Amino acid sequence: MEYDDNAQHDNTLTDALHDPWDREHLWHPYTSTIDPLPTYKVTHADGVRLHLADGRSIIDGMSSWWCVIHGYNNPRINEAAKRQIDRMSHVMFGGLTHEPAIELGKLLLDLAPAGMHNVFFADSGSVAVEVAMKMAVQAAISRSGSHKKTNFVTIRSGYHGDTWNAMSVCDPVTGMHGAFGTALPVRYFVPQPRSRFDGEWDPADIAPLELTVRDHADELAAIILEPIVQGAGGMWFYHPQYLREARRIADEHGLYLIFDEIATGFWRTGRAFACEHAGVTPDIMCVGKGLTAGYLTLSAVLTTSEVADTISRGEAGVMMHGPTFMANPLACAIAVESLRMLREQPMAQHVARLHSIIKEEIAPAAANPNVADVRSIGTIGVVEMKEPVDVGSFQRECVDRGIWVRPFGRNVYIMPPYVISEPDLRYLIRQMLEIIA
Ligand code: PMP
Repeated sequence: MEYDDNAQHDNTLTDALHDPWDREHLWHPYTSTIDPLPTYKVTHADGVRLHLADGRSIIDGMSSWWCVIHGYNNPRINEAAKRQIDRMSHVMFGGLTHEPAIELGKLLLDLAPAGMHNVFFADSGSVAVEVAMKMAVQAAISRSGSHKKTNFVTIRSGYHGDTWNAMSVCDPVTGMHGAFGTALPVRYFVPQPRSRFDGEWDPADIAPLELTVRDHADELAAIILEPIVQGAGGMWFYHPQYLREARRIADEHGLYLIFDEIATGFWRTGRAFACEHAGVTPDIMCVGKGLTAGYLTLSAVLTTSEVADTISRGEAGVMMHGPTFMANPLACAIAVESLRMLREQPMAQHVARLHSIIKEEIAPAAANPNVADVRSIGTIGVVEMKEPVDVGSFQRECVDRGIWVRPFGRNVYIMPPYVISEPDLRYLIRQMLEIIA
């Protein structure tokens, strides 16, 4: 269908909301071109509300895939973006530097667990994972002198992004291994820890990781984990002791420990970073998503001076990565403003208050016979169903009820912006539970 054909479509309310040209030509995430799920046209957004092309507005329970932490159209962040764009939107980071990157680096190291010393800016969450894995391989080869130490071990049901290496450490069954088969590097997978975040620690949980690392340490560069919250791989929250044990195992066998804090960073789980629940510092840590409060794509990989200097003493003598848009000044200036806003608020108390509302409101779902589990941490609330959810019909119901929730697999969940009001949060969850019912 050519663009001009659009003129033949009735300009009905439905067409205002569901653009036929978009349906025909634009590829949306994980979407079939033959039978695409409907998309809803958004004209503008404010606070927690998305305004739709047919005049309705809906409460965003997703923070636009978990990144819009301060809400949409935030006046302070808008102002910061405008200030920066009038100075320079971009300048290369090779051989040049700028105040937004310096300030952001300082704020990040200030917030990160003690021991983080070097900051590498990247373009997106997935690219941060690529960079982290490259760092681990470069450092592991340099430290051990062995070119064999290049592989990774992780837990099942993980998700680390859509680029090649990131895909390779996503869950091999629910992730993308099926579609790409032998094209993906082969990683070591151990079972997902089943000890719940708020439950008893079962020492048996760590045995598979311990055994795998013991048997393959000579070919492993690092353990890579999403700390505490496994996000897009299943919205599972596991026990902090697993991270302490992983730290011990990594140290005992000369492996690096990578934490992917892309989904969990910036107070999403109630702490600045999820690793704080365990009191564990990784060697390499990825942040993204909420870093720019959902304004622009930017991520960062933080690491220790040991890793950075080991790479610098290695064969290449440098970290082998340097994207065009590295440390984009506009994105950095936005991130600086967002981090300042987080620093000015008592975030731990604020998230604890939102959590108590989420926990209280989703609790009744446990009585539904179709529900397998109900859980919450920080500003994340999950209702795990026994059967997969039909996303298309679920979302139609959501929009009709004035909310935006996008389930995946068997999980119906919310991860709203931190600026959500108590009445909006209660409304969002009650409507979600009514649809489930
Ligand atoms: N790691 C984790 C834990 C994530 O949740 C995501 C995104 N859902 C990514 C990596 C990839 O980030 P991006 O989509 O920005 O590439």
